[in-house]
Amino acid sequence: MIEAKDKQYIWHPFTQMKGWLEHSQTVITDANGIKLIDSNGREYYDAVSSLWVNIHGHRRTEIDQAIIRQLGRVAHSTALGLANMPAAEYAEQLIKAAPAGLTKVFYSDDGSTAVEVAIKMAFQYWRHQGRPDKKRFVALEQAYHGDTVGTVSVGGIDLFHRVFKPLLFAPFYIPSPSCYHCRLADSPASCNLACARQLEKLLEEKHHEIAALVIEPLVQAAAGMLMSPPGYLARVRELTRKYDVLLIADEVATGFGRTGRLFACEHENVDPDFMCLSKGITGGYLPLAATLTTDRIYNEFLGEMAEKRTFYHGHSYTANQLGCAAALASLKIFSDEQVIAGLAPKIAAISANMAKLKEHEHVGDARQCGMIAGIELMQNKELKQPYSWEQCIGAKVCAKAREYGVFIRPVGDVVVFMPPLCVSPDDIDLMLGVVARSVEEICSQGQSVDDG
Ligand code: PMP
Repeated sequence: MIEAKDKQYIWHPFTQMKGWLEHSQTVITDANGIKLIDSNGREYYDAVSSLWVNIHGHRRTEIDQAIIRQLGRVAHSTALGLANMPAAEYAEQLIKAAPAGLTKVFYSDDGSTAVEVAIKMAFQYWRHQGRPDKKRFVALEQAYHGDTVGTVSVGGIDLFHRVFKPLLFAPFYIPSPSCYHCRLADSPASCNLACARQLEKLLEEKHHEIAALVIEPLVQAAAGMLMSPPGYLARVRELTRKYDVLLIADEVATGFGRTGRLFACEHENVDPDFMCLSKGITGGYLPLAATLTTDRIYNEFLGEMAEKRTFYHGHSYTANQLGCAAALASLKIFSDEQVIAGLAPKIAAISANMAKLKEHEHVGDARQCGMIAGIELMQNKELKQPYSWEQCIGAKVCAKAREYGVFIRPVGDVVVFMPPLCVSPDDIDLMLGVVARSVEEICSQGQSVDDG
């Protein structure tokens, strides 16, 4: 039995394995469109796009076929000393689609390494410039950029990152911009981006020590979908430019249409020095990542061997041919089907559901950025008093939704929703209807929140 083998042999990510072993688990054996199917033939709406990655639905013929065609030629050949066709073709397409100024693609395998690469490139760039003093990074307090030692260093979520502190380098932290949680101003209308002021002060004083600022543009995903106010990202770009600090845009989660544009940076006309991509890059088929950068950075790494300007970083599966073939097919669907233009009614459907959810007595905030939403549960909404950690209220709401056939995940007490972009407005109503019902049953009705 698969569940028994899983429990005997697999250690799951971000999972307390004691709890995993004690409960019965769902085994996914099939999928179709926006649904996952388990070993008993039960269907679940994939309301989190298999954790952001599934963009055009499961078993998309075009991506299936692209991978099969590539399998008929070659699955993988190293990028160390060899070029390959899908990687070169995809790099060209990606650069055409990306914000202005990004001209080069460095491939890796997952979101963490895409960010790790940007951190290392930024660090090395300043050394080549004869500015080794510029070696520190700026990060947001609730940041999440991955699980490698470098990316954990620029992370700020206590629960995930604190234990590793002795292993890490220390960044400068600035407050996470989030209007619902703001302690800096009374209202977003009158705050004049108070959340950016600390950054300005920091850069004014320390810019000569700072290599780069790392940010998840518009939405801090793993922090619980914290969303920055309009103008914040543009202000960050303006300040980093003024103080000659490089800007690393971690679009691992927000990239590929999630925010309603192909890339989140587009909303505020921001051209970063690095853009990190993964998750949706292959439409949810294969692990692949890309770090995009500019001529300014790339040219500093050109030189004779003896100058030691080479970027010494790479992985066995870098520029994997199957992954790049899938990525090409996924990007082609964006243009063939005008996916971004088609998002408007879906985004409107999410907004209508968020407005309804906000009325619930235990929904403190229901926030949205394009096709991303977060429903934050509160014990006492008026006092903004959260549930206690032990109550695991977010997990209970998600478990209830799963009983009703919707697979959704909590980040603490924030229920996160990011369906595949191919979802219909009716499917959105259905899924968020299930979330509303689950919130009602767990938070309001007789079901005790203490009963497991
Ligand atoms: N950056 C962001 C913004 C993310 O949300 C994630 C993954 N949740 C990562 C980086 C790390 O990506 P991966 O899990 O593919 O290493």
